[in-house]
Amino acid sequence: MPTLMTYDAWFRDADSGTGRWELDEIVYRSPTGGLLEVAHDLEALKNRSAAGWMKLWDSRYKRTQWPYGSGVWGKKELVLPNIPDEHVVSLDEGGSNLFWADRFGRELGLKDLWVKQCGVSHTGSFKDLGMTVLVSQVNHLIKSGKQKIMGVACASTGDTSAALAAYCAAAGITSVVLLPRGKISPAQLIQPIANNSLTLALDTDFDGCMRLVQQLTEDNKLYLANSMNSLRVEGQKTVGIEIVQQFDWDVPDWIFIPGGNLGNVSALYKGFEEIQALGIISRIPKIVCCQAESANPLYRAFKTGWKEFHPITAAPTQASAIRIGDPVSRSKAIKALMKHGGSVEQASEQELADAMARADRTGLFNCPHTGVALAALIKFVARGEVKPGERVVVVSTAHGLKFGDPKTAYHTDTLPGVVPRYRNPPVELAADRTAVYDAVMRHVERSVG
Ligand SMILES: *Cc1c(COP(=O)(O)O)cnc(C)c1O
Repeated sequence: MPTLMTYDAWFRDADSGTGRWELDEIVYRSPTGGLLEVAHDLEALKNRSAAGWMKLWDSRYKRTQWPYGSGVWGKKELVLPNIPDEHVVSLDEGGSNLFWADRFGRELGLKDLWVKQCGVSHTGSFKDLGMTVLVSQVNHLIKSGKQKIMGVACASTGDTSAALAAYCAAAGITSVVLLPRGKISPAQLIQPIANNSLTLALDTDFDGCMRLVQQLTEDNKLYLANSMNSLRVEGQKTVGIEIVQQFDWDVPDWIFIPGGNLGNVSALYKGFEEIQALGIISRIPKIVCCQAESANPLYRAFKTGWKEFHPITAAPTQASAIRIGDPVSRSKAIKALMKHGGSVEQASEQELADAMARADRTGLFNCPHTGVALAALIKFVARGEVKPGERVVVVSTAHGLKFGDPKTAYHTDTLPGVVPRYRNPPVELAADRTAVYDAVMRHVERSVG
């Protein structure tokens, strides 16, 4: 077996697929201002057969040989092939639960519905998948003396900053996070604070923080950790590969995924395209990128038949991590969605809240972004686009525990403009035997009848 095989990876222009910059350079954009992507020498990777890759990756999956037990680093050859293992900063990300949503699926008339629980992860969101790669590469640049980097910075709607802070803290690297003041959840705010990140709460929105962090990192003293940095996509792309792996290398029919800055949907396609090139899968699932109606620039572009894209000012939404009006990775996302015939759907505040609550009643505990994807799925089922026997995966992007406030507001009926049809408010009672017994019996009889 070619165990000592070497593989090559480099940055290239994502639009044209040309140019070459080394991964050890600090570069985020091509000279034309476009996004970069990490290219892999797929010809060299083809030296191992598809069956060989599946066997190798399965042999590492969730084992303890560090860092290969991580869902990301188990596929190291296709992620960052040349980073020394001792420079990898891993918190055992990936390998997350693929929940068979049997009961919720049957409620919707589906036989084969699954939820990929990316929020069951170290910092509670899928951002860990990308951040392990970015922080590992920064750690490598520092440890190998290839670059002088004083710290890493990001703008965030809450989950990116949590992941950056944790990975940097684990590696002993300084981190700085720029957050829109009052627009992220309390749980998300405490994460970078606890991990000793310089936490800047700014009077602007996410798009304003994004503009500032790009200026802040211009002189290369601080490394930029947002998803326009294509290293993050390399980790995030493993989610699709892992879903297929969890189905014993069977490809599902549909994947519904929430989208804000649009790095994750681009990453999903990139992973599938690469394992298709390696012969591991023969087709790519139908992918639906799901947006909140109040932050829906991609949906609007889709509705024009991809003729026009206009950034918008995103309005408040329970799905605060996708409150983005000017998504950085839109060109990658649109290119992939057009190429593969992917779709975009949107959900109102009422629809996403009800979908989240309905699914929770069947044993899940969803974040509002997952609610957006579930609401989009409900529309596809109602229109007959998703058929009863098809295998559907919903990518859950964060843990519901990070979003207790909108969930509490739903159940206590304090969400403006939302009528909570599935609310289950706490019942406040005197600590009295009869009162408690009567309340329980009323509930049990209602549930049975
Ligand atoms: C970041 C994030 C998203 C959106 O991902 P993009 O790559 O920005 O499209 C969705 N849900 C949650 C919970 C997130 O943290």
